[in-house]
Amino acid sequence: MTSHVIQYVDTIQDRIVKSLAELVEYPAVSPHEGGEGENRKARFLEKLAQELGLSHIQWHNAPDELAPEGFRPNLVIRVPGKTDKRLWIITHMDVVPEGDRSLWQTDPFKAVIKENRIYGRGSNDNGQELIASLYAAAAMKECNILPEYETYLCFVADEELGSEFGIQYLIEQNLFKEDDLIIVPDGGNDRGDFVEVAEKSILWLQFTVGGQQVHASRPDLGLNACRIANAFATELDKAFHDAFPEEDNLFTPPFSTFEPTRRLPNVGNVNTIPGKETFCFDCRILPSVNVDDVLNVVSQVISPIEKEYGGKIKLTVLQRTDSTPPTPLDAPIVHLLTKAIKAVYSFDPEVGGVGGGTCAAYFRKEDIPAVVWAQEADVAHMPNEYCEIEHLINETKVFALLMAGVE
Ligand SMILES: [Zn+2]
Repeated sequence: MTSHVIQYVDTIQDRIVKSLAELVEYPAVSPHEGGEGENRKARFLEKLAQELGLSHIQWHNAPDELAPEGFRPNLVIRVPGKTDKRLWIITHMDVVPEGDRSLWQTDPFKAVIKENRIYGRGSNDNGQELIASLYAAAAMKECNILPEYETYLCFVADEELGSEFGIQYLIEQNLFKEDDLIIVPDGGNDRGDFVEVAEKSILWLQFTVGGQQVHASRPDLGLNACRIANAFATELDKAFHDAFPEEDNLFTPPFSTFEPTRRLPNVGNVNTIPGKETFCFDCRILPSVNVDDVLNVVSQVISPIEKEYGGKIKLTVLQRTDSTPPTPLDAPIVHLLTKAIKAVYSFDPEVGGVGGGTCAAYFRKEDIPAVVWAQEADVAHMPNEYCEIEHLINETKVFALLMAGVE
């Protein structure tokens, strides 16, 4: 039965590709970034779902004053199953803006198909998985296979800007239950061999060091902010790594990471001592480490450096997202997805944690197990974003097998 649906998906490749190409032409950029939002795209998807014979479609509209029609749409398509156990495949309709147009070789909102790829904004993030889930449901129907699980395709708004009008809104409406099977296919690699069950906390720190700018030949008259920043960054780097040596093999790498990253430009010429220096740390912190403890280490390092060198060091927290407890490795969705991947790719995926940032975290916060998986090129948010057609078809097969409960 299920090998039949896998073969059938190969025969409808052209229809799947055509629908993803059409989807790209709805530029669902958030109204909070000057875009038109998801409404036109949602109407297109509703019509497409109906054409595919999927008739149980519900709109969950999150009020948003900035949206053209006063709301942000979330579409939920229910596919009846043999049991009342529920499977959710959650993808997002919104896309990020195209960015610098001159970096695009084609129109970002006009799909171009070449070399077995579909180019365009949102073709990869998250249109590829959205269309794969829709055609998985269509293929099951066209093969006359009743899914094992009552399946819900959920197309959400606002993922790129924090999910307030998307998955967070749906969770508030109590749509989900603790024993639901939930997959968020919005992250992965180009082999499709990694299932994400946990995320580290994210902490982005920016430091501004204040000194006094003077001519480089008279350091005695000023205070070199660059030197203070160098000393401080080195101390802080060491203090972080000394304070948090914990390891957790669920994650790659298995330890917390503390990386000095961006430095803002300081002075325009060599012979000026900078009076101000700004730099950042990107910290990805294991769930066993309290983020407040990390911030305490910062305060402990700042004061002795200020005392030794003079000047003022100011901390700005640019982003803080505390981790949630991981989805247990023995959760039913982990087991089901692993079996489906094995059936399509003939390998066992690795199951583990990543550095952070998907909407599966909102489910884990509510104690609802959720996994993240996709087979996709690493081109999300970039110019010339594309979807590899082979990935799209493989994902369609995996989602159909999930619906079928594998076998
Ligand atoms: Zn995404």
